[in-house]
Amino acid sequence: MAGLIFGTAGVPHSSKKPPTTINGIKRIAELGLGCMEIEFVRGVTMGEAGARLVAGVAAEEGIKLSAHAPYYINFNAHEPEKITASQDRLVQTARIASLCGAQSAVFHTAFYLGDSPEKAYELIINSLEPVIERLEKENIGITLRPEVMGKPSQFGTVEEVIRLCAELKGLAPCLDFAHWHARTGAENSYQEFVSTLKKLEDGLGKAALEDMHIHFSGIHYGQKGERKHLNLEESDLQYRELVKALIDCKVEGLVICESPNLEEDALLIQETYNNLLKQV
Ligand SMILES: [Zn+2]
Repeated sequence: MAGLIFGTAGVPHSSKKPPTTINGIKRIAELGLGCMEIEFVRGVTMGEAGARLVAGVAAEEGIKLSAHAPYYINFNAHEPEKITASQDRLVQTARIASLCGAQSAVFHTAFYLGDSPEKAYELIINSLEPVIERLEKENIGITLRPEVMGKPSQFGTVEEVIRLCAELKGLAPCLDFAHWHARTGAENSYQEFVSTLKKLEDGLGKAALEDMHIHFSGIHYGQKGERKHLNLEESDLQYRELVKALIDCKVEGLVICESPNLEEDALLIQETYNNLLKQV
């Protein structure tokens, strides 16, 4: 994979109706974008036959895919049946995403539920190991990506995500720069973006930067972190500095736009990237 590829979280607004995954992929190609994240956030409703059709269209159009697992996952749940349900949901996401030809499945790892981060970490890693084993057994070749999260009640600081990915093979980070900015109230300058990317390189090696999965959007935030996503131009996210840091750190991979306007900001950041690349 060379450089960064840009796309949307879900089907672009300007896609042909009905807004199916296939119509979305075709619209991504028409717009000149390069990837799309399939949103299984309310459940994996796509079947195996449908996934194979999606894979065919994506290959034809030259569009890369990733998937987002259901929100109803918590690998630190205090009831064992909720852990089992979380494992099943992530395995099913990975299974269908892999049939779609996706290389990554993003998930929200957990809530602390009042536990210390260290205690939560233990249960999370123990709950995730069987998921990796099941994927290996089924020969599902997909990278699971715990996401950096925007609220202090959620597991997923940059450091926690790096630690989890370093300790469990088959995992790699989903770095959400808007979440990280909202959670810290900082992390919004060129220097800070670079230092986050360096942390990743130190913890996971250069290969991590060469196969990154990034989320971004504008964001509204307060004391409790993330409030809601905004369009870039309505927010304070220093996206030009972010793009410059990504270029300077030679980051490669997929960049998924989660702004409400989806394709507009995806195109804006792609154009920013292409313009900055010309100046390098
Ligand atoms: Zn997410």
